[in-house]
Amino acid sequence: MCLYGVYKKVYVINPDQSNTEVFVDACISDEIQQLNDQGIITLGCCCNHGTAGENVEWENAFGIWKSRADPPVALIQKKSVQLARHSGYNPYPYYYADGISGGVWQMPLKTGCITKQDCEEWHRINQLPLEKNIGVIKKESLDGPLKKNQSVC
Ligand SMILES: [Zn+2]
Ligand SMILES: [Zn+2]
Repeated sequence: MCLYGVYKKVYVINPDQSNTEVFVDACISDEIQQLNDQGIITLGCCCNHGTAGENVEWENAFGIWKSRADPPVALIQKKSVQLARHSGYNPYPYYYADGISGGVWQMPLKTGCITKQDCEEWHRINQLPLEKNIGVIKKESLDGPLKKNQSVC
């Protein structure tokens, strides 16, 4: 959906997290809220801002890594996997660079922008300038357009 730095507030249910309000990439925030409302414990997510499939390179303590950017994705707790499958998702283990999953799974989301064009479209439909770092947008400003165009982002 959105360019980097456009967020909406989501109420999360993770009992291990003291903060129940988190800021989520705006284009996937409704879906993340729905997942939490269904009892699926989300640990993180990113729409990847229209970069899916692009080459990425990063460095950490284990070396330099090359990969491709994911489409919109959420990390969930392993104990939520069955529930997620029941809702039509395809979760699979998430491995950190040291090869350990640690009970974290990931799953592609059903909404969110895949290409740069999707991002542009999302900003246009939501009447937001095509700019990064707009910040947190109010729920109300999105509810109308998103309901009519739920599949866009
Ligand atoms: Zn987005
Ligand atoms: Zn993001």
